[in-house]
Amino acid sequence: MKIALQCDFDGTVTEEDVSFLLLDTYVGSQWRDYLKEYIEGRIPVGTFNKKVFGMMKTDRQTMTELVLNSERVKIRPGFRELVEYCSQKDYKVVIVSNGLIFYIEAILEKLGVNGLEVHAAENHFSPDGMKVRYLGPDGTEMEVGYKEAYTELLEKQGYSIIYIGNGISDIFSSRRAIRVFATGDLLDKCQEEDLECTPFTDFHDVIRGLED
Ligand SMILES: [Mg+2]
Repeated sequence: MKIALQCDFDGTVTEEDVSFLLLDTYVGSQWRDYLKEYIEGRIPVGTFNKKVFGMMKTDRQTMTELVLNSERVKIRPGFRELVEYCSQKDYKVVIVSNGLIFYIEAILEKLGVNGLEVHAAENHFSPDGMKVRYLGPDGTEMEVGYKEAYTELLEKQGYSIIYIGNGISDIFSSRRAIRVFATGDLLDKCQEEDLECTPFTDFHDVIRGLED
């Protein structure tokens, strides 16, 4: 059986959402009105992200320095070990995130984790506000169903999916997975739907779960 481990980034690899740190720092509190709309299900995650990231006018270097040096960016223990474990087991690891590609790549590089397949929002820095777009597996732009589109691609390539995530946008891919590791809102959502999942606090828990 070909196995792919699809992993969310913000709130999963990192303990907190990195984009929230950027938005708090460079936009101010008004972005949280849109967050409320998103959480209440009134706008899709892609629309929310395009809107709020569009309010960030700071340059790449400044934002990257903040992300790499802030105490608010904490990595859940065991991520490197999980990636090594998967490489030994010949499991493909894919990060699919509604976050921004620039900080995901910067954080992975700092962690010394190389060569992972990462799908996240393309970001174009601009003094008029950052332009963000999500490209699906076929290269077309999409605003909804981004994570699930890559789950579907992996399935088409013959993989069974192990899913790891923390948020409400992770439920769609989780429903298609053979195994789910969940924390935060995703854990609540899985329990609400009676979807079998393994709770985790760090990636050592995930490795232990995969060992069973
Ligand atoms: Mg998340």
